[in-house]
Order: sequence, then structure tokens, then C-alpha cells
Amino acid sequence: MCCFKLPKGLVRDLESMIRKFWWGYSAEHRKTHWVKWERLCEAKEARFFPDCSILEAKESSSGSYAWKSIIGARDVIRKGMVWRIGTGEAVCIKEDRWLPGRVNGSVISPLPSMAPEVKVSSLIDPERVAWRTEVVQQLFLPYEADMILGIPLSSRRPDDRIIWAHTPSGMWIKSGQPEKILERYLAASVPNKIRHFAWRICNNALPTLVNLHRRSIVPSLICAQCQNYPEDALHAIWCCETIKGAWSALEWIRQTAPPQPASFSDLLAGFLSCGEEFRAKIFVTSAWFLWNRRNAVHFGRPSLPVDSICSRAGNYLQEFLQAQIEEPIPIRLPPSQQWRPPDHHCLKINFDAAMFRRPSKAAVGVVIRNNAGEVEGALSSSIPMAHLVADLEALACLKAVQFALELGITRAVFEGDKAVIINALLHGAGVFASFGNTLDDIRMLSSVFQFVEFIFVNRGCNSVADALAKKAKLIVGDQVWLHDVPVDIAPLVSLDVH
Ligand SMILES: [Zn+2]
Repeated sequence: MCCFKLPKGLVRDLESMIRKFWWGYSAEHRKTHWVKWERLCEAKEARFFPDCSILEAKESSSGSYAWKSIIGARDVIRKGMVWRIGTGEAVCIKEDRWLPGRVNGSVISPLPSMAPEVKVSSLIDPERVAWRTEVVQQLFLPYEADMILGIPLSSRRPDDRIIWAHTPSGMWIKSGQPEKILERYLAASVPNKIRHFAWRICNNALPTLVNLHRRSIVPSLICAQCQNYPEDALHAIWCCETIKGAWSALEWIRQTAPPQPASFSDLLAGFLSCGEEFRAKIFVTSAWFLWNRRNAVHFGRPSLPVDSICSRAGNYLQEFLQAQIEEPIPIRLPPSQQWRPPDHHCLKINFDAAMFRRPSKAAVGVVIRNNAGEVEGALSSSIPMAHLVADLEALACLKAVQFALELGITRAVFEGDKAVIINALLHGAGVFASFGNTLDDIRMLSSVFQFVEFIFVNRGCNSVADALAKKAKLIVGDQVWLHDVPVDIAPLVSLDVH
């Protein structure tokens, strides 16, 4: 049986939640705790799991309904758990789940000569706080080595921690019930047939060639369009080369999507968690158009041009919403904003991340400007590819904070265009997120400033940082400009102040 030791920090968090559940809690005053905490734990522990954790406890016929429900939920909990690497000392390379982006988080490289108890820490150089790149590349399959090298490490050497897999916030969206997510996010604002389509695709209930082949209805499971890969839902809607043009029509689509989604639900979760609802709606509606187009091509009917799909989807949604006479719900497109200079007493620091497919790597751009909109410093830096866009954005924010400190700045306003990161920083969230360690690094370093603020802005306000990040495609490591920016980026800077 696979089991997890829970790190002390997680146990403390859980205990605190349980206390609040028992005794109530408000920010102003503590409620009375009617029974001592030790006593509260004692009876249940002794009765149901005297000497093991809840994940190891045996089911008992005499248990209460609630207890049986908890036991029943354990398998779901186990499936969703993955280790977030801090020092790597608590996590076994071969036996534990720790690879982000893998459905079950386990290593599949064979590693024949490695003992089962070898820890992830053996792959980390504690002095440089960096992965031992050569060791990782020698031991693991190339794809898996890239995944590992993309896991961010923190110089604070935090404990390894169990988090929920598959959701960028690290909080548990019921991944077993994608229809619940859809109800919440799409209810009443997309047509029923599209909701139904989304439900089917998340439950793997579309007649893709892979599904038809499994039921022996068709002889081949290979995609009829590209003739290259098995046609499952993710391939038909997202990966197939023949439909790439559909998604490249809208710039934000590729940027919002996780780089290597494992399933359609994974992909959708990326759009649902970006903090801007209209993105998920346009994505799902475009997917529906693409699936209809696939059917038309498949059965020899006339079909829409691939690159018109996203704009069709947008128009279709608009028309649907306008037809909702009672209470029209407008699609909230982000207002086009203009970058604004900071107050004279501080500097404004914009940051952004970018990712490149070939070669597979990521990059960070940072620009520091004063009250007159003049550039005090700019940074373009390449970093290893991470699993989630949100991980990269958190790293971009960290890089911005470090750069500001290196330049001796004491009063700073940081601006980024990824809502999930800024919200987590503002509300102390992200404890269970894959980028939680990076957030803690940001919090610790930014406590040094005399004045600091984090603000979420529209992409339009962040064009200089975005351009600096994209510039890093061709460089290795960091490139810094002081009181200056590269020639090709200067026009964007002056555009911001005029
Ligand atoms: Zn294909």
C-alpha cells in the first residue's frame, strides 16, 4: 500500500482548520475551546487509528457513517496528492509521487540500479540550491529530466510538502467531477449544448477514434487528419497539427493553457483558474466549434476554415448573451488600460514570463521605471521550463523582487498580469500551490522594502516586460540594462508614457 508521511507544517494547518471547525472562529476574537485540544484528539485517535495515519487506518464495520465516508474518500485524496519539493529529503525518487504534470506524479524512467529508498535530495546540490543537471540528465528519460529541472527550488530550503495535484492554486477542485466545475463557471452563460459537450469531453464520453476503437467500432485509432497520433479528445481539440491555426488566432489562448496538459480536463482547469471567466467560456465554445468541424471533415461535409474558429466562437457567445433578454450577462473583456507611472516616492516594476516551444525553455522580463516613465533598469533572463504558466509567473515576480533589491530600491510597486499570482500574494494564499515555495521566497524578500505593493494589471500595461521576456529566447542566463533598454524595446517604453 502506498502511504504518505504528512509534514509537520501540513499537520499544523489541518489541526488549525479542525479547531476552527469545532469552536468557530472570527478574526476579531477567539471563541472558547470547550474541550482541551489533546483531549479532542485522543478519543478518536485511540478508537479508530491508534497507531497510524488516517491514510493507513483500516475500515471497521462498527465505524460511524461519517467515519466510513472519510475512509471512503481516502482513495480520492491519495490520487490527488503529489509532493512539492523543498529539500527533497522526505521524498523517495522511485516510490513517491512528485513529478508535476504527470497524471499520477510517479517517475517512469526505469532507474535499474537505484535503491527504492534513495531520496530526491540526492539530485539537488544543497550549496548552489540547484538541480544536479548532469546527474538528472544521465538518470532520467529526456522528457522526465526536463520536468525535474523545471521544478523551482528555494534557497530557504523549505520542507517537502504534500499538495493537491492538477490545479494551479493547489486547492482541490473536485477533479473527479468536472461537471461540477462546469456548472459553477459556465452556468447560464454558455448555451446548454456547449455545456453538455464540455461535460461529455471531461468525462471522456465523446466518440473519438480512440474511444470507438476501444469498443471495436472502428479498425484504427489514428487521427484521420494528421495520420500521426491516436485521436483522443485532447488530440482532436488541441494537439493535432492540422488545427494549430485555430488556437494561434488568439494570443492569450496559448499563454493561458498549461504547457503540457495531460488531459482535456487539465487543459480546461488552466482556463478556469486564470481568474478571468470569459477565457474559459471562449475556450470551451471554440472547442465545441472545433469538434463540430472535425465531424464535418470526417463525414465529408463542408467545414469552417480552421483559423476562423475562435472568432466564430466569440461572435456566437456574444449573440447568445444578447439573446438572453431577461438579464443579459455581458462577456467581461478586459478593458484596454494604459501603463501608469508610479507616485514620485517609489518606482514601478513590471514583470512577465514567456515560454518557447523550440527550444523548450522559459524566460522572464523585468522593467523598472520612475515617476517620469524613464527606465532605471531592465532585465531579460532565461529559466528552465516549468510545468504551469503560473509557476513561471511566480518565478518572474521573484526575479523582479531580487532585481529591485540588487539595485538598492527600497520603495516599489510590482505589477504583473497573472491574477492567480497577484491574488495569492495579496491574500496570503497559495500554501498548497505548486508555486507556494516561490511565493514564500517573494514574501520573505519583499519584507525588506520600506514600501511594497503588488498589483494585477491588464496585459496592455505590461507590454515592455513581455517584450523583454520574449527577448530572452536567444540568450543564456541574465542580461541587464541600466538606465537604458534595447533599441527594439524603446518604442514600447515611449508608447507607455504618451
Ligand atoms: Zn491529428
